[in-house]
Amino acid sequence: MRPKHPNKDIEAALKYAEENDWRYQSSGKSSHAWGKMLYPEKSREGCRLSVWSTPKSPVNHARQIIKKVDQCIHEAENDEEPSSNKEDD
Ligand SMILES: [Zn+2]
Repeated sequence: MRPKHPNKDIEAALKYAEENDWRYQSSGKSSHAWGKMLYPEKSREGCRLSVWSTPKSPVNHARQIIKKVDQCIHEAENDEEPSSNKEDD
């Protein structure tokens, strides 16, 4: 489970990303970023974006996140492959 983002606009954008199967990844101690969101892609490198803790304009940053999610085309590509993605969880 990812930590909640302190900014409500960015938090909403992160929820939108999660609804589109993006996942949270910690950025580690060395980064100023709050974390990363990744689109896990099987055969090729998936999309990713950095999420800032305190951007100058949180609203703009939230928009960037949503735009990136909307631009991700991996979902459409994966639809053509046979599904063997069963999880017991
Ligand atoms: Zn993508």
